[in-house]
Amino acid sequence: MLFASLVFFLLRRTTMNPLPRKVFYHQFGNQKRVPRPYRRRKTYLCYQLRPQDGPVTARGCLQNKVPGGLSGHGRHAEIRFIDKIRSLQRDSSQTFEITCYVTWSPCFTCAEELVAFVRDHPHVRLRLFASRLYFHWLRKYQEGLRLLHKSRIPVVIMNLPEFQNCWGEFVDNQDKPFQPWNKLETYSENINRRLQRILERSNEGNKTKKFHDQCEHWKNT
Ligand SMILES: [Zn+2]
Repeated sequence: MLFASLVFFLLRRTTMNPLPRKVFYHQFGNQKRVPRPYRRRKTYLCYQLRPQDGPVTARGCLQNKVPGGLSGHGRHAEIRFIDKIRSLQRDSSQTFEITCYVTWSPCFTCAEELVAFVRDHPHVRLRLFASRLYFHWLRKYQEGLRLLHKSRIPVVIMNLPEFQNCWGEFVDNQDKPFQPWNKLETYSENINRRLQRILERSNEGNKTKKFHDQCEHWKNT
């Protein structure tokens, strides 16, 4: 009886509607230009949670919630993800690993919320695999990426192995292998270079600040 309840509990926690293959290829595609037919690429966040070295106990895919209803407020997928994990009420003394695959990297506000979540849950290890960088040319979004980076939330740009893993875990793949699109790895490497440049800028900023502080110190001595 106890075993049956446990199986039901685990199934309930781990079952989800898998992403249709077409949706995955379109939404997770890392091409610079959206392939035809044109449809907007939205935020999808697929997560899985497991105790350290244990089997997956929860997984799901979330999208942004568009404004509507009485509150009239929309909610980004990352905030819905945090709400979801908080609602699971896990054993707070156990170490959990959470892996997220996201179509777009988080905005600054979501980055701050993710950092606050990890700060409140020291036993959670969170890592993000992102297909594309969201508004990477804007300073605020760059700051969000740097904030995650220095707050023990690694952001890694998805390449072939990550697309394959995501396909295997979250897509209604009907046992078919993932079919990489043209230049997938080149696109991924370009996006990764861009991310590294953004992350390095914080070091340069720190170096400049250190130099500035040193000058101030010399001036005052
Ligand atoms: Zn956001």
